[in-house]
Amino acid sequence: MKKPWEIFDTRIRSANMARRSLPFIKVGDDEKQQLIGALFQNEAQNTDRVIYIHIPFCSNICPFCIYSKQKTNDNELISNYFTVLIQQIKALSSSIWVQSAPFKAVYFGGGTPTSVSVHHLEAILNELEKSIPLSTDCEITVESTITDLTPEKLSVLKNAGVNRMSLGVQSFDKQTRKSLGRIAGSDEISETIESIHKDGISNICIDLLYNLKDQNFATWKHDLAAISKNLITGCSVYSLISTHTRAQTSEVREPELLEKEYKFFTEADERLPEIDGWERFTTVQYGHRKNGKATYVSAHGQNADLLAFGSGAGGRINNINYIQTGNVEEYINAQGDFMNDPILFLSIDEKYLKLRAIFSLSEALSLKLTDYQDLESYFEDIIAQLINDGLVIIRDKALVLTPNGRFWAANISALFTQRIREILIN
Ligand code: SF4
Repeated sequence: MKKPWEIFDTRIRSANMARRSLPFIKVGDDEKQQLIGALFQNEAQNTDRVIYIHIPFCSNICPFCIYSKQKTNDNELISNYFTVLIQQIKALSSSIWVQSAPFKAVYFGGGTPTSVSVHHLEAILNELEKSIPLSTDCEITVESTITDLTPEKLSVLKNAGVNRMSLGVQSFDKQTRKSLGRIAGSDEISETIESIHKDGISNICIDLLYNLKDQNFATWKHDLAAISKNLITGCSVYSLISTHTRAQTSEVREPELLEKEYKFFTEADERLPEIDGWERFTTVQYGHRKNGKATYVSAHGQNADLLAFGSGAGGRINNINYIQTGNVEEYINAQGDFMNDPILFLSIDEKYLKLRAIFSLSEALSLKLTDYQDLESYFEDIIAQLINDGLVIIRDKALVLTPNGRFWAANISALFTQRIREILIN
């Protein structure tokens, strides 16, 4: 009988990677104009929608990072960047699509949004609140490192409407943090969390990483235990995917590494929902059921429309994905004109909109049988195999991931991706 970490030969570590082989095709330059018109001059088909703002600057560049960012050492460039971001928001805000339904979350990611003057973020929020419909309980999150968040910055963010902070802690362990280039110690982490809470932002999420250099199982258990000793309401848990070894590490092949990874994942997946009031939101996101909601992260992992602004930001509307240039200067030069920006548009057959509900099983933990019945003929054999392998069970009129299914969630997504590819291409 196979061990749980042997069910697949390799482990895919991120849902984004699993979705990458969907048959999106590049939209030609001559069709862009017509496409943008069709997207934005019609009412929203999907009222589940969120906004992402990319801030591609960091005070220091971490050796393991895969995100689109550069060092914050050019104030003029940063200032020009925010001017263009606001121009881009203004250019789209009056469109029928934007105005036709409220957005339920705004997420400032990066980079490190707090590595720049937070008055830039304040200006963006003022513009969003003025010109874009946001739901009355709109979740507004800002990502930050510990060292970039000062009391002054915090106060500006709180007054501008920020109600959730996402902190890139990665580990509480001094040695592990050092190997990641992080200088703040665990006391400083606790103090920062306390001051966020005192300032009135009570939804505080942290990121933790496993598979790090110098990390062992004891330090991992210590990291997980540190959550309940602090005023933390949510935690995202990821396996490290480093930038220079991305090709090799995005999939894990060696059996002993898979066993280790399984042990680390399972410890987090079992312990975090045991914290008082907490539950499992997705296969990587846990939090307090009332105070630790992660609206943006959950919507992003499912099928919400995503209006994304900024250099390197990727959005999706209906059956269209778009990616803006990761070159900050090129982005600034385009002056925020969505029609002429160097944006790559990718389209997929409209039938995908129906098929994508299957990802709820691998990315949101379960799929109601009533939502599955229309998809059954396409995925029946895959689901039968997953049930046979103990990765999925039927419970409470839904297909539900088992603990082992949660470990292999991205591999399960990849099976669905491959099948969708076959359906749409043939
Ligand atoms: S991990 Fe965060 S702080 Fe470090 S370089 Fe990447 S985006 Fe910047």
